[in-house]
Formats: sequence, structure tokens, C-alpha cells
Amino acid sequence: MDAETIADEARSSIGWYCMSTCKALCCRKGIIRLQGKQEIAAVTQGKEEELRKERLLEDAGGEAAILHVGKRPCPSLTSDSKCSIYTNPHRPKGCANFPLYFYGNTLWAASFCPAVKTGLMDEHLKRIEELGVKVLK
Ligand code: SF4
Ligand code: SF4
Repeated sequence: MDAETIADEARSSIGWYCMSTCKALCCRKGIIRLQGKQEIAAVTQGKEEELRKERLLEDAGGEAAILHVGKRPCPSLTSDSKCSIYTNPHRPKGCANFPLYFYGNTLWAASFCPAVKTGLMDEHLKRIEELGVKVLK
């Protein structure tokens, strides 16, 4: 099995924890990079203007934008901590990949994520390391 597939397994393995314990911290705190008009529209759920006025949505060069979550959660987050655009093709890649990101032969596991911090994905990360990928937390 390749490293990308193991990383996908790792992300899937924490689904229960994301909803029942963490309650989507990554959708409630931090920043989300949005690439292009379609992603911005999909994530902001008709609240783009309002978010821009509050400076919670800011241009980030080209067609990219940064959504700040903290004061308000992501507009696509449901009250039961699910992503309402989970299957939408315009769901940001950064959301789909969180908390594991590949940069060449290095995998960065975001320690901001409680599942990473508490070692819930350590078994998977070890398997990825055994394939010769450098794992950073
Ligand atoms: S921060 Fe980590 S544990 Fe929490 S919802 Fe996001 S991916 Fe899941
Ligand atoms: S788009 Fe979905 S996964 Fe991404 S921050 Fe919003 S609710 Fe979370």
C-alpha cells in the first residue's frame, strides 16, 4: 500500500473522533484557504459579502481567499459537527487533506489537530515512515 493510501486510511480512521470528541476544531478555529470563486461560493453558503464586511474573508492573491474561523465557525459546518459540503467537488483540498499534507517525500501532520496530538494516527504514521517518507509533526 502506498503512503497516500495509508494517509487516506488514517484520515478516515478518526472520523468518529472528529464528530464525537473534537467536534470539528479545524472548522471552528484557524484559517481555511479557498482557491477560486467556486470554492468560495461553496464554503461561504451565500454569506460571502457579510464575511468580507466583517473581514473574516480576505483576498489572498489571484482568485484565492482566506477564511478566518474562530469568531464564527465555517459557514458549512452543521450544528452536529459535520461538513455540509463533504461530497461537493468544490470542498477545499486543504479540508479534505487535513490534518495530513504531503510535500514531496515529507508528510506533515498538523499537531494543531487533537487526533495527531494524542497519537490516534501514530500507527498509520509509522507505516508511512516505514515506506521511507519523512514524517513531521
Ligand atoms: S482538528 Fe483533527 S480531530 Fe478535530 S475535527 Fe479536525 S481532523 Fe478531526
Ligand atoms: S468546508 Fe467543511 S471541512 Fe472545510 S472548514 Fe468548512 S465545514 Fe470544515
